[in-house]
Parts: sequence; C-alpha cells; structure tokens
Amino acid sequence: MAQSDTSDVKIAGPLETALVQLDQTAELLQLEQSIHGKLREPKRVVRVSVPTKMDDGDVEVFVGYRSQHNMDRGPCKGGIRYHPGVTMEEVMALSMWMTWKCAVVNVPFGGGKGGIACNPKGMSMAELERMTRRFASELVDIIGPDIDIPAPDVYTNAQTMAWIMDTYSMNAGHVVPAVVTGKPVELGGSLGRDKATGLGCVFVVREALKTLGMPIEGARMAVQGFGNVGSWYSRLIEPIGGKVVAASDSRGGVYNPNGIACADLVAHKKETGSVVGCAGTDGITNEELLAVDCEVLVPSALEGVITSETAPTIKAKVIAEGANGPTTPRGQEALNDKGIFVLPDILANAGGVTVSYFEWVQSLAGYFWSEEEVDTQLEKVMVTAFERVHAESEKLGVDMRLAASAVGVGRVARAVRLRGIYP
Ligand code: NAD
Repeated sequence: MAQSDTSDVKIAGPLETALVQLDQTAELLQLEQSIHGKLREPKRVVRVSVPTKMDDGDVEVFVGYRSQHNMDRGPCKGGIRYHPGVTMEEVMALSMWMTWKCAVVNVPFGGGKGGIACNPKGMSMAELERMTRRFASELVDIIGPDIDIPAPDVYTNAQTMAWIMDTYSMNAGHVVPAVVTGKPVELGGSLGRDKATGLGCVFVVREALKTLGMPIEGARMAVQGFGNVGSWYSRLIEPIGGKVVAASDSRGGVYNPNGIACADLVAHKKETGSVVGCAGTDGITNEELLAVDCEVLVPSALEGVITSETAPTIKAKVIAEGANGPTTPRGQEALNDKGIFVLPDILANAGGVTVSYFEWVQSLAGYFWSEEEVDTQLEKVMVTAFERVHAESEKLGVDMRLAASAVGVGRVARAVRLRGIYP
C-alpha cells in the first residue's frame, strides 16, 4: 500500500498530515495491512452543488462536501464548516480525526465532517439560511440519527443546526431532533454543549499540569482563535487559576504579560467583532502569539499553524490543541525536540463530541439532563481519556499524540476485526 511521503513540503496539507499520523500509528500497533488500508480511506465522500438565491436576486453556486470516514463503532459524527478554505481533502482529514477522537473518549460514533467553501462573513442571515437548507436537502439521504449526525464547526452555530434539523424533519414528515447536535436548547439541544469543547480542554490541561507538577494558579495561557472553543476555554480556565496573557482571532491578537480579564475580551469581541484593541493590551500578530512567553499555548483556530518553522519559536511548556490539526508532523518533531508536552486535538478538544453524544442520547430518549449532570459526566470522560492516553504514552515510550492515536486507532481496529469485512 502507498504510504505517505514524509518530506517536509508534501505533508503540509491536513490530509497528508492525517495520513502520516495514521501510518505512524499503524506501524506502532503493527496493524494488519487489510485494516490499515481500510482506515486510510473514508467510507464515503460526497461533493454537492449548493445553488443559493442571494439577496440581490442572483444565484451563487457554492460547493459543499460531507466525508464519512468510518462507521464501524457507530454512526458518523462531526461538524459542518463554512469557510473559503474548505476543500474535499480538508473534510476527509477532519473526518478521519473525528473517528479517532470518538474512539479516544470511547463514544459510539465514527468520524464525519462537512463544509461549504464560502465566505459566511459576507453573507446575510437569509442567504446563510437558504444555503444551509439547500445543502441539508442535498445530504438528506446520507445523514440521520443512525447514519451521520452533523454539529457546528468553524463559522456555523446552533442556528445553522436548527435549519438543518428543520429541513431534515420537513423531508421526513416528523420532527427528528437527533439528526444534529449543538442545536438550540429550545429544540432539544443539551445544556452545556456550547461550552463543552472549552470545558473539556480545561479538564485535560488541569490534569496535564498536575501530572507535570506545574501549578495551575497563575499559569499563563496564550489562546489563538477566540471563537467558541478559545473563548470558552479562556473563561473557564480563569476561575481555576489560569491567567490569559494573549488572545487572537482572524484580525490579529492582543497581549498583556500581567493577564487580560476574559470578561473584557468577551465584551470587546461582542462589541467590535474582534479582540483587537481590547483596553489594557498591546497588539500582536497571530505568529507572535505562538511565541509568547507562557506555560500553556492553546491553538484554537485552524489547521497547520505549528510547523517546523513556527515550532522552534514556541516558549510554552504545554500545548493544548483546541483546534483540529493545528500541528504538522514536522512541527510535532520540533516540539518533541524542545520537550514540549502536547495534548493532541483528538484528546484536547474531544469535550465537544462527548457532550454531542450526551445530546444525541437525550434527543433519542426525550429525557433531558441538568447542566450539572452534563458537566460531571464530561469531566469523568475527559479525565479517564487523559489517564488512558498518558498511560499509553508511558507504556509505549511515545509522545501524547502518538499515544492518543494508538488508543483511538486501536479501538477502531478492534471493531473492524470483530465485525470483519463484509461480505
Ligand atoms: P469559531 O468559528 O467559533 O471560532 C474560530 C475563531 O478562530 C474565530 O475567533 C476566528 O476569528 C478565529 N480565526 C479564524 N482564522 C484565524 C486565523 N487565521 N488566525 C487566528 N484566528 C483565526 O470556531 P470554533 O468552533 O471555535 O472552532 C475552532 C477550532 O476548534 C476548529 O479547528 C474546530 O474544528 C475545532 N473544534 C471545534 C469544536 C466545537 O465544539 N466548536 C469541537 C472540536 C474542535
């Protein structure tokens, strides 16, 4: 079977990154060729045209994708992203990471991911609604509570999920809340889902600092990407002693070595659309944010920001990957050379899919949990996953990324082996 080229240039894209990581894990686990080969390919990828009536009467034709990587442990699960950079390769990579992530936290899902190549910031709500409903109509035969359950991702939110749920339900002829997660609470969404990825990340950072003998009180945090994941992480790490010294978004970053009150960042972002210019801070670029003097760096924007070029500038002792795929394989090697402890994406941001699982269970049962119950169960899952991955890392003598991958890929491989290859 063709293995990924590991030259520095060729592994820059997310799909190459995901395949290199899988190949390394397969070698470590000595996976049989048949299972390794199956796991390298998504089960199904669809590419659809999404003609959308714009407010000026023109029709713009967007392109949307859904990749369903694996269904051996359950239906596919994963976000839908609206961003100009969305490609088929990107959603294929993201769906593969979702498969391992669901297995790391041991929820009964495989990985899916989708998106539309578009610029949502330049679209009205009415245009976004028409585009979303057309996209959902195109996917109606391949999504569903038992098949594939979308959720929010970059530049999509609870409202987007409400439109998808409504479109799917109108087609089905009855209400189907479990077709999406991350939907509004009024429509059967779970309490605590909004903050879940950030909170899950807080739990694993807390455990990592404890394990490394580093106090959380006063630990300085630099957060790249102050969106859902980054802003909730910041807000929730603050009450347990973390100090956010830098934050950024697509427009740039802010820095104050003495700490920035998260409430100020949230209010400024709400008012102006960006953290840039928040009172009491100096402006920095996104590249400078990576190199800020701090204990914990939390990349929570997009893929491929920690590379062989940027990794040597990083001063953090711990990296918690709120985003999916922020580190390239060469970037990881450079981090290992520097002895930086990495909480990889498939562990660090798995809180979102964990509470999505709780939401799916609640939607199917029609019985809803308190927020306290959701947070308590999430903490148990995240602490267990951290301990399992850390133990694997010690046992195998590998970094946390490879250890997490070994846990995730290993569980999926066992499911494939037990089910066998049909027919
Ligand atoms: P979001 O749209 O809420 O926020 C994204 C943030 O990143 C925004 O603040 C945006 O301004 C910023 N950003 C965009 N481009 C940037 C750039 N070039 N440099 C710096 N910042 C930039 O999205 P989100 O849901 O918070 O997702 C962020 C990451 O977390 C993605 O990789 C996503 O796949 C991952 N993730 C999200 C969830 C979830 O539950 N939302 C779960 C797991 C993983």
